[in-house]
Amino acid sequence: MDRLHRQTASCLFLVSCTVWAHAAAPVARDGPAPPIRIVYFVTSDRAPIAGFQERLDRVMTEVQRFYRQGMQTAGYGPKTFGLDRDEQGRLRMDVVSGKHPMRSYGRNDAGRVREEVKTALAARGIDVDRQTIVIFQTLLAWEGGRAIEIGPYVGGGDQRAGTAWVYDDERLDARLLGSREPGGYYGRPCSVGEFNSHYIGGVAHELGHAFGLPHDCQRVADRARGLSLMGGGNHTYGQELRGEGPGSFLTAASAMLLAYSRPFAGEQAAPPRRPSGCLCELDARFAGGKIVLTGEVIAEPPAFGIAAFNDWAEIPADYDAVSWTCPVADDGSFRLEVGELRAGASQLRLRVCRTDGTSSQYAFDYRVDAQGTPDLTSFLSRLPLAEAVGAYAAGDRRRAAALAAELQRRFADTPDVRRKAAHLETLLKPRPPRGLAELPDQAGPVSVSDVRFRTATVGWGRPLFDEVLIEPPDQCFLQVGGQFFERGLYAHAPARHELVLDRKWRRFQTSYGLQDGHDGSMVFVVQDDGRELFRSPTIREHVLPSDSRFSNGAFESVLWVLSGSGAGDGRKPIECSCAMVAGRAACSLFRTGVGPSRAGVGPRRVAAHAETGALGRGPAGAGGSAR
Ligand SMILES: [Zn+2]
Repeated sequence: MDRLHRQTASCLFLVSCTVWAHAAAPVARDGPAPPIRIVYFVTSDRAPIAGFQERLDRVMTEVQRFYRQGMQTAGYGPKTFGLDRDEQGRLRMDVVSGKHPMRSYGRNDAGRVREEVKTALAARGIDVDRQTIVIFQTLLAWEGGRAIEIGPYVGGGDQRAGTAWVYDDERLDARLLGSREPGGYYGRPCSVGEFNSHYIGGVAHELGHAFGLPHDCQRVADRARGLSLMGGGNHTYGQELRGEGPGSFLTAASAMLLAYSRPFAGEQAAPPRRPSGCLCELDARFAGGKIVLTGEVIAEPPAFGIAAFNDWAEIPADYDAVSWTCPVADDGSFRLEVGELRAGASQLRLRVCRTDGTSSQYAFDYRVDAQGTPDLTSFLSRLPLAEAVGAYAAGDRRRAAALAAELQRRFADTPDVRRKAAHLETLLKPRPPRGLAELPDQAGPVSVSDVRFRTATVGWGRPLFDEVLIEPPDQCFLQVGGQFFERGLYAHAPARHELVLDRKWRRFQTSYGLQDGHDGSMVFVVQDDGRELFRSPTIREHVLPSDSRFSNGAFESVLWVLSGSGAGDGRKPIECSCAMVAGRAACSLFRTGVGPSRAGVGPRRVAAHAETGALGRGPAGAGGSAR
């Protein structure tokens, strides 16, 4: 949920807004929406910036107006977040004195700043973890007419609570948005009005992240409305006041995610049970240049709409994810149209929105050919595959086998689905792992999925081989970057896996990556007999590195470690660091005394060089000794 703020790529597509009559009854609220809290964080070497009370009141009142207008246009009425005001109507702020001078805070110090704020406000009886807060920081410096960004400028949160980190500056003032006077700076000298577009737009954008909004991009059809606030719109905010363009707007998808959030819809007591949602029917066709999805959702509390984000893989990050929406009818049915398809790989993320402000996400990877025709297999196979996995998870082996067989018939021309269904059949017939000494003495690699470990501990769940923990989104397959692997290990960091090799094995080959569908981060480490052979950089993206090969004359023992790297940039702590180890030849061991050996490679060297022996290249069982 945490988002970096300063994107440079501006979106190529502009958006529209559609008014939906949403029928689902909202979850009853137990009280009015709590106002968002404004914190003023002053570093130890600076004083509050002149006029901050009145200026920031005007800034927040302007941002409040922007959201109100966006919600109204999207069909939800003039809803916006609340601000806490005193008897005279002035914005209440919590001033917090920072412990350190300005230059001691860096761009990645969101966690440090928030920790100081949290401690200071706790002493005043305020728990910042339970509310949405905006922290204005004196962390923008001026040098020779240039504005230098010193501190963090980000936002993160969900429909209940979150934090936005932004700057105060003496030029920051909603009254100056229309000014064409020089005196501003953003990457280059600019008008004071443009300075405010960037930095008030930034407040609105980071606050959007604090409300749990993802990035999105406006549609081509909506170009006339300007840029999406959660795309490039933080840089065009209010530019219409200077006649420099159409400005920024709140997309229908953002409005949908906000409609029943706590700051917009009101307080709710703890729900009687965990919200749940299920996409229980899904059909896809291609018509009129659009993907048309129809289906049914069962959700508790009821779903009222679907926000969809169509993210093209050619552009990294998600600022270009064009958003689309549709209502969910009382009977759970929906019809969603996704247009403006782009040739190549894309991911469509559906957020099914419930009336308590929560949502469930379903992601579909698909491709569009050069003629603009999408491959709809991932939409069509998703639910049947999930049904088969569900039967497997429930222990209904006969049904799982029947569904897997049916999938292989129905999707005979779709290798990915066919392979997954066949793999499910393999998982239905597990064989106990064997000790390395019990394996037949033959040439070729051995998949470590087949052998018993001396140690296999994980931070969550249990050590898994050739499958992953079955969690939403309802799949059990090892998959990284959209690529499916039959063989491999799945572990939740922190994890340790150790094999005793007794100098009978000379090479260990693997890839490693972050399982698709899980946020998190990890570091992959390989040791032999206490000596570290390899340490990966921190992995946050769902990308599989090329095979890593670790050669030694003979391994004493080999241990690999996955460590979750925690909170990262000091923003919201990462709660789930899921990781997998896999590879084309799975995670394999090669014996000593068989085939060409590179015994000369020292134990400390990471052997990433080509060693083209008889590598197991095939899918399951490539190394012999299949389970
Ligand atoms: Zn952002």
